Order: sequence, then C-alpha cells, then structure tokens
Amino acid sequence: MHIQSLKLFILVFFISIPTIGQEESSKHSHKSSRIINFPDIPGYKTLKTDLHIHSVFSDGYVWPTIRVQEALRDGLDAISLTEHLEYQPHKEDIPHPDRNRSFKLALSEAKNHNLLVINGAEVTRSMPPGHVNAIFITDANVLLKEKAVDAFQEAKKQDAFMFWNHPNWISQKPDGIAVITDMHKQLIKEGKLNGIEVVNEHTFSEEALQIALDHNLTIMGTSDIHGLIDWEFNVPNGGHRPITLVFAKERTIPALQEGLLNRRTVVWFDNSLIGSSEFLVPLIKESLQVKKVAILREGTFIQTVEIENTSDVDFILQNTSDYTLHRNTNVFTVKAHTSITLEVKTLKIKTEFDLKFKVLNAIIAPKKYAEIQFKIKA
Ligand code: ZN
Repeated sequence: MHIQSLKLFILVFFISIPTIGQEESSKHSHKSSRIINFPDIPGYKTLKTDLHIHSVFSDGYVWPTIRVQEALRDGLDAISLTEHLEYQPHKEDIPHPDRNRSFKLALSEAKNHNLLVINGAEVTRSMPPGHVNAIFITDANVLLKEKAVDAFQEAKKQDAFMFWNHPNWISQKPDGIAVITDMHKQLIKEGKLNGIEVVNEHTFSEEALQIALDHNLTIMGTSDIHGLIDWEFNVPNGGHRPITLVFAKERTIPALQEGLLNRRTVVWFDNSLIGSSEFLVPLIKESLQVKKVAILREGTFIQTVEIENTSDVDFILQNTSDYTLHRNTNVFTVKAHTSITLEVKTLKIKTEFDLKFKVLNAIIAPKKYAEIQFKIKA
C-alpha cells in the first residue's frame, strides 16, 4: 500500500467514527443491562409496571422525561405519573395550570420508545380516605374538587382505576397498621376503589394484603419515587424498584386496565413476590424450569434434577416432597438466572416422581406461602 493511499484510508477511518456516533444517538436508545426479567404465564403477557411516580409537577425532584428514561432502563412496560392534585410545593417556580402537563411531557418522550404511559393523578387528602391514585383518566384538571368524594365521582366518570396508596403510611397512621374505614368500604361498594398498595417505596404492609384479600382489591406495589430510582433503590449495587406485574391479554393500555380490574397482579418487592396463588404459582412455574433429569451414579438410587431460574428473583425453596435431598438442606435458594442440580433420594430409580416445595419468599396471604409441584419425568 502506498503512503498516499494509507493516509486516505486513515482519513476515511477517522471520519467514519463520528458517523457511527451520530447514528447511535439518532436512534435515541435508553437500553441497559439492568432490564427487569419475568416470564409470561400461560394465556397472559407479564407487564412490568410502576403506577405511582412523581415529578417536579408535584413534589418530585426531576422532569417527567427522566421518569420515562428510568423506566426504559428498567425495561418497564408501563408507567403513570401520578402528581398530587392538592399538594403543589413547587408551584411558585412551576405554576402548573394544566394538570395533564406532566403526562403530556412523558408521553412525548416515550413516543419513539416501547413504553406505555398512562395519565394519572394522586388525590391527596387526610385520613380517611388518605391518598388515592386514579389512573387511566382522560383529564386530571377536572379532578380538582373541593370534596374528595367529588374527585372520586369525577374519576369514576372518566373510567379510572383507583387504588389506595400507602395505607400504612406513618404520617397518617403512626402505628403503621393499615385499617380500612367505613369511607373506604363505601368507595369499594361504589366501584371507586379497586386496588390497594401492599408495597409502597420501602415498605410492605401485611395488614394491607389482608384488606386486599378480604375486599377483593387488586394487590399493588409501587416505587412512589420522588428522587432518582438509582439512588433510592440502590440500582448500581443490584437493587430494584418495587413493581406490579400485571397479567394482561396483550401489551396495550386497555388490556393492562382489564388485567388490573380483574386483580391479575403480583408485586415484586425486595426479594419477595406477593400476590394470589392463582397468578403467583404459574409465575413461579414459568420462572423455574426443569432442564435435565439423570441418575447421579450407576448403582445408586439418587436422581439428579436440574432446575433453571429465568427470573430476577432468588427463590427460597423449602422441600416438602416425599423425598429428602442428598446435597441440600431442607431450605435452599435458586438464585436469579442460575441453575441448581438437586440430588433426590428416590429410594429406587423411578421414571416419574413428584417434587414439592413451599416458596418462602412468595407470599399469598399474611404468613402464607405459595406451594409448587413438579412432575419429574426421567
Ligand atoms: Zn405519591
């Protein structure tokens, strides 16, 4: 190669670098390796949602655009910016005459991304009823009413899905115990309260879970983020925001609403899943797949079962099978995105046997845990 043409080659090479850079940035991607993973369950898509978040348009500290980018980094399917209607601490700097503004800004940021953005608002009152989110609304402005009951009436008119926020909030309930009031019961009767947060930010309420079960309310978990997701939930060190998994017939806003109304949810909080066994059990069964069955060694009566965990949860299993295990104690963990090989003492070599486990971090009711069964075929 002549010196001249070598120079030309170098020139072309260096020119091409910024071109690649421009193409990358014009795609405007917020992809990342921290994407939250849960499998679909039979008949439904598993939608990852955070339906209670704030921006500077109420008492949050970031612009709505950042909320969209955080959601995309987490691989969420849907978010709702639920600004406090009645609490506007930034209003001297951000007058906020249009209460749909935060939704509109988020929607325009999400336009070229695969994220569902839902219009919502937080009706912010003293107890009762406390704070209630109304989502899937069409106009937040008309929800601004003197009386809370009128705000709920208007939200109902807009076909909203409404859920009781942090019923365990110590600013309104100093003992942290969620207790349902007659006003809440009345709202439920009128179809103006459909769900309840059993998880809000860093808290879990066993009492709220019992209220959900007693009154047929949708089990919800949200971040209620005001600052940054990464800082609040220590994402750089493996943390995550609480989310609600919604089992929907398809990945659309109406299907999401239908799934929520029909109580098809599981909450992911810390390293626990919380929901009814009707949806929690299929979710665990899809997450834990039997990969391989074999005999440990010729002449022994020990059969090995490899189980792969494709979810983000470290499942804590308690063996309730008829058989004991050779290599594990009665309680062991199947870490997220890894496999475990169990050595099962089946007493004689079997072509078929059952393995049963209680999943100690899958909560179906206060102090009750999901139970799963595998039909093992050798
Ligand atoms: Zn809130």
